[in-house]
Amino acid sequence: MCSRRLSALSETLSPTKIVGRFAPSPTGPMHFGSLLAAVASFLDARAAGGYWRLRIDDLDTPRVVPDCDRLLMATLKHFGLHWDAPVMYQSSRRDAHRQAVADLLTTGQGFVCGCTRAESQGGPMGLEGPMYPGTCRDRGLHDVAGRSVRAKVPHDLFGVSDRVLGEYTQNLGRDVGDFVVRRRDRIASYQLATVVDDAAQGITDVVRGADLLTSAPRQAWLRQALGLPAVSSAHIPLIKTSTGGKLGKSTGATALSTREPGRQIWRCLELLGQQPPNRLRHSSPKPVLEWAIDHWNLATVPRRSVVLPEA
Ligand code: GLU
Repeated sequence: MCSRRLSALSETLSPTKIVGRFAPSPTGPMHFGSLLAAVASFLDARAAGGYWRLRIDDLDTPRVVPDCDRLLMATLKHFGLHWDAPVMYQSSRRDAHRQAVADLLTTGQGFVCGCTRAESQGGPMGLEGPMYPGTCRDRGLHDVAGRSVRAKVPHDLFGVSDRVLGEYTQNLGRDVGDFVVRRRDRIASYQLATVVDDAAQGITDVVRGADLLTSAPRQAWLRQALGLPAVSSAHIPLIKTSTGGKLGKSTGATALSTREPGRQIWRCLELLGQQPPNRLRHSSPKPVLEWAIDHWNLATVPRRSVVLPEA
């Protein structure tokens, strides 16, 4: 009797399965920094016996490179990073994004904005530059063509207990201001699409590059505003070039070489503060990833940017 009660209790309390994700924008081939993010999120999910999902963040249509999604998928497979199907394309989620924007407007947590780009930068300086001055906040404008929708953010602290970087909060009203949730061209903003689609994919754990940490408080607020489940977050170090710049597509980082994929995964593990054994240095991805799943330790992931060593 007693043991049955105990097992029923532990069933209720057993944590739900972890669901991680990798969400590349198909705007260019993978580079070493995106491989690092993919490897970290893959290991974090698999080490916990969880799912790892793939999402193609293809909303910013002018920047989308044709066929890049297929190239990204082929690259992930080549590196042994197999995801749990199906893949989600953000471009197929426009109705859900539209509904979320409508919900923000209905609940008074968003407003229609008719400001031009220049007009919208007339406020005080925030963390990411001049903030929105609040011009349309209480004007009750109609949602006609050419207008954007902004979040009506509170002067309140929002943030995350990041599993790598610790507590990170912003006072949204003071540090960021009323940010765009739907652009003038009616495409959902990165912030809005991310929280809506993370929820639809059942994501519980977001592991991504530290350049996105400053977005985490906006996303935490949006999740609360839309009644979506909270997620746990871990922001992993960025890779600096030997000259100190950030390695990324915008800095012209070269595409990932497809040579010696196992060796490159091994190098990712080193950069992530894991200690892969030398005997695996020249293996194929599978045994290196198997070792890494067994030994994954987020506590030893460095908090600062790391420099990519010579190949
Ligand atoms: N699609 C975004 C990027 O490639 C990442 C989104 C996210 O991880 O929240 O930078």
